[in-house]
Amino acid sequence: MDKQKIAGDKVPALPDLFQGEAGGVRLRSARCGTCGTCFFPEYHEQHRPGCSREGVEKILLNRIGKLASYTVQHYMPPPPFRTEKDITPYPIGMVEFPEGIQVVGIMVDYKEDDLVLGREVETTTFTLYRDDKGQEIVTWAFRPKAH
Ligand SMILES: [Zn+2]
Repeated sequence: MDKQKIAGDKVPALPDLFQGEAGGVRLRSARCGTCGTCFFPEYHEQHRPGCSREGVEKILLNRIGKLASYTVQHYMPPPPFRTEKDITPYPIGMVEFPEGIQVVGIMVDYKEDDLVLGREVETTTFTLYRDDKGQEIVTWAFRPKAH
């Protein structure tokens, strides 16, 4: 089986950004051995002048984070982002993870009440489109964690 597949026929639109685990979807990050900072994507190694490229440890971020900020977009995401249908308007959430890193992503499965700073959200996937083989091409996304 293709390691990059998330679940069933879901295939990430871009490789090496997130992966499926038994407990859900997790973003792939890395921690700098010099300053301890986590970064995303994991291959973004030259994040700070003076830090060594050695000792960079690949990690998976916690599945759960907290909504630190958000904005509602009323225009379609620019290429290479591609969706089957118009998804506007859609919220983009900035999520703070326990590892001390913030990552932005589309919010899905939300109600207006869920768009509150500090709200716990979990990492999931969002289907952008289906390819010729019928596989779901997905990106990472965030949804409010069930109470
Ligand atoms: Zn560093």
